[in-house]
Amino acid sequence: MIITGSISCKTRGECDIVDITSQVARQVAESGISSGTVTVFVPGSTAGVTTIEYESGLVADLQRLWERIVPRDAHYDHNSRWGDGNGHSHIRASILGPSLVVPFAEGRLTLGTWQQIILVDFDNRPRSRQAVLQIMGE
Ligand code: ZN
Repeated sequence: MIITGSISCKTRGECDIVDITSQVARQVAESGISSGTVTVFVPGSTAGVTTIEYESGLVADLQRLWERIVPRDAHYDHNSRWGDGNGHSHIRASILGPSLVVPFAEGRLTLGTWQQIILVDFDNRPRSRQAVLQIMGE
């Protein structure tokens, strides 16, 4: 069986990191599917999905990492073409990637104890995001 759902969150932009683990876990538990995989996919070219130990130190570390490897004030041709000033946001999102697959068994995600699913919004303004969840299994 395949069930496609979604989760919504509001973000503040510029590397805002949102823990979406409980929303994903709830939809998997409520799907009635015992074992399989859930794909978490964020539509849009300025956000990404990954996992982290969601504690404030690491969240800040990850936010700072992006400024080191893809600085906001570097030159981006995209900013000349579109004027939206978010060239860095697009590049960061491309590196991180838009999706994650998590296996589940007996209705529970197989995440580690200190591993949470996060949506990272790289855009340079607040956004309303709707991530797609596709739950596949039997
Ligand atoms: Zn743009």
